[in-house]
Amino acid sequence: MALDRTATTYTDLVRGFAWTIPEYYNIGVDVCDRHALSPARANNPAVIAENDRGQITTMTFARLKTGSDRLANALRGLGINKGDRVAVLLPQRPETLLTLIALFKVGAVAVPLYSLFGAEALAWRLIDAGAEVVVTDSVGAQRVLDLALPTTPAVISVDADAPAGVRRLDELLTRATEYAAAADTLADDPALLLYTSGTTGTPRGALLAQRTLLAHLPGVELPHGFLPHPDDLFWTPTDWAWIGGLLNLILPALYHGIPVLACRGNRFDPEAALALMARHRVRNAFLPPTALRLLRQLPPERVRGVCTLRSIAAGGEPLGPSLLDWGRDTLGVTINEVYGQTECNIVICNSHGLFPVRPGSMGRTVPGHRVAIIDEHGQELPPGHLGKIAIHRPDPAMFLGYWNNPEATAEKFVGDWMITGDVGRQDADGYFWFVAREDDVIISSGYRISPAELEDVLGRHPAVAQVAVIGVPDTARGSVVKAFVVPRDLSILDTPLGRAGLARDIQDHARSRYAAHAYPRQVEFLEALPTSATGKIRRRELRQQGG
Ligand code: ATP
Ligand code: MG
Repeated sequence: MALDRTATTYTDLVRGFAWTIPEYYNIGVDVCDRHALSPARANNPAVIAENDRGQITTMTFARLKTGSDRLANALRGLGINKGDRVAVLLPQRPETLLTLIALFKVGAVAVPLYSLFGAEALAWRLIDAGAEVVVTDSVGAQRVLDLALPTTPAVISVDADAPAGVRRLDELLTRATEYAAAADTLADDPALLLYTSGTTGTPRGALLAQRTLLAHLPGVELPHGFLPHPDDLFWTPTDWAWIGGLLNLILPALYHGIPVLACRGNRFDPEAALALMARHRVRNAFLPPTALRLLRQLPPERVRGVCTLRSIAAGGEPLGPSLLDWGRDTLGVTINEVYGQTECNIVICNSHGLFPVRPGSMGRTVPGHRVAIIDEHGQELPPGHLGKIAIHRPDPAMFLGYWNNPEATAEKFVGDWMITGDVGRQDADGYFWFVAREDDVIISSGYRISPAELEDVLGRHPAVAQVAVIGVPDTARGSVVKAFVVPRDLSILDTPLGRAGLARDIQDHARSRYAAHAYPRQVEFLEALPTSATGKIRRRELRQQGG
């Protein structure tokens, strides 16, 4: 499923592109066994892991194959078969990958879950998915047992100090036989149940097919300037339970035989992230804008001195021109934005080696997809018009449906257009511009205001660390803009004068640099913004709290 590397223009690349998705396909075989069975690559590192004590271990493709084969056998021994759901509640570590690969080989449906989920979030997903087994660590095992679910799934711990009643992975692996035949999975068979980020409400389980990996490859190769390059090493601070970690980075890297760095971190710490990347000479990263904004707060000289990155893809939230500028100046890398959603990803991207990036634009359609701006009747709108961002089916990247929710699946479509729920426009050259999620568009005195653009402008103010804008009801104007600002220096909030002065300064900044009609008439300061597990700003919560 490789792109034509000889193509020198985007138009040529699109013209020469055709999907080659076989009838039978198995992610586990493709990302692991294919390399493990090649004498040239078998002993190359697949995962380089650094644990919280700073110990570094490496797992080769050969070891990943033996381990995942044994686990596949053990899981079959526990009665797990094609289509059965198995939750993987683990941070970034080699066993996470080994487990996922084993599940793909069995043809089971892997349900990756954030290890930082609270009890309620965890219980809801385990019950919704009907998980029969949970593979986790010793902490996770205890947490699952404490949930007291109506039917407790079998629990396997990857740690030796597992609580009573929990199976140990190392024992299962020792007892199991070494070779497992992968199930004959069709490319269209389900492989992953990934829950959406829950930014706008209750998350939904998107059921993704084995083919989803192949369908992701063009949208990963382009922002990373074709793959592989010598010395490539991929890392992301995002959890591997999110599509942004798993399908935008981990699995595509392994597909190309590129090693991935696994590091168990809890919260994103920009200093630690920078040091980690430098220590391992990380060459390629998927960094969501939230992480980039935190890195931007470090002294530029320090960042500049140690950055080893060759390529950065960013997505999940708007990148914006200011982070793009910062990336070029400080990291020496043009950050390529990507766009998509759990239900169908990556369908738009930038690829600065192939076409110029237009600051503020998410990029152009990834070859193989059809993306358009449509109206509520499913009619395509001409360039420049604001409308719904929609993806046409069939599309191999598209989900099979929401788990156990055919009504929600049906509502997601108008004819053959899958409605993303995002509003944007496309320019005459095919570049897409994100405006907002449908619920977040602000209409003030008849003007449509793009929160994405305004937040980018506000984020350039030197005293602003993070910012989110919403519309609040106003009798005269319909709604007015309210900005929630996390200042860089929280001590400024200690004095009423400090608050008022900074608020005025931020308003003047928006008036002069953005638009006189769209400046935030209200400014509220917060110590942190409410975010989803993937670090996305939950504007809905801001509307409920302070709107
Ligand atoms: P939920 O659907 O549960 O509310 P979510 O939409 O955040 O959560 P994801 O599937 O993880 O769940 O995220 C996809 C969404 O993220 C997109 O629909 C879009 O709103 C946003 N997004 C992704 N990439 C970009 C981007 N490059 N620019 C702006 N927004 C983006
Ligand atoms: Mg969504």
